[in-house]
Amino acid sequence: MKLLFTCFLFFILSCQSVPDPVSSVLSQAGTASLAGNLVSSAKPEKSAESTRSFSISPSRVIPPASVILGRKQVPVLCYHQIRDWKLTDSKTSRTYIVPPAAFAAQMRMLADSGYHTITPDQLYAYLVSGIRLPEKPILLSFDDTDLDQFTVAYPEMKKYGFKGLFFIMTVSLGRPHYMSRDQVRALSDDGNTIGSHTWDHHNVKKYEGKDWITQLDKPTRQLEQITGKSIRYFAYPFGLWNTNAFPELKKRGFVAAFQLNEKPDPADPLYCIRRIIVPGTWNGPVLQQWIRRDF
Ligand SMILES: [Zn+2]
Repeated sequence: MKLLFTCFLFFILSCQSVPDPVSSVLSQAGTASLAGNLVSSAKPEKSAESTRSFSISPSRVIPPASVILGRKQVPVLCYHQIRDWKLTDSKTSRTYIVPPAAFAAQMRMLADSGYHTITPDQLYAYLVSGIRLPEKPILLSFDDTDLDQFTVAYPEMKKYGFKGLFFIMTVSLGRPHYMSRDQVRALSDDGNTIGSHTWDHHNVKKYEGKDWITQLDKPTRQLEQITGKSIRYFAYPFGLWNTNAFPELKKRGFVAAFQLNEKPDPADPLYCIRRIIVPGTWNGPVLQQWIRRDF
């Protein structure tokens, strides 16, 4: 509850986007601009049989921030719990606990309105290299490992062929009301993307010394073992971030990170992509209005 409440404090909406397939894309990015920032943060390959969603050249050139910021924002939605409200849920909590019927209506609206869910790889390729996205692209993201994301949201999304980005807090894996390792693996195997949301949801702005190992290195390794894929995307707990985190994320191979609704960093927008939290009070048409208004 405390976690939910804190999350809400930073509610107001927000996130945005990142890219897609591949080495061809990224090598294209590599020739984009010599004025860009050279990033050499790719993680070493674990093993030949490790399944990769895409491969990243160890040294690639990211275009200037102005190029990335100049691209039209892709809406990125952020969900937490997908369940009916309880009497004990505060008014505040209810704004971001989305009842299954509301979630179903939101997904139906997206499908009926012609939205196409994209992967974070697609978003990244778009932001970095301008790779074209499907019409009306949208990225659906889920934070905190809640079990109902697997049992309720995932089946609903499957009706429309939608894919999502699931940010996992590894301390909760297998605990009651949270997803298991097998469920995370199943999401990944079915084309959804797994991202890191730290070990136990501590505020990134307060990390020092070994905190980076506890909150980034170990959870990432665990998620890579579970999925058999590299973990490239990160979501800041509570949406809280500062630029001190950027080099720590980069050197660990994260290619982008997601915040909530703050203005992106003007120098490094890939590491503070905007998302909006979708409240349980929004029906399909209201969600559509917010998508149009905020992105
Ligand atoms: Zn969270």
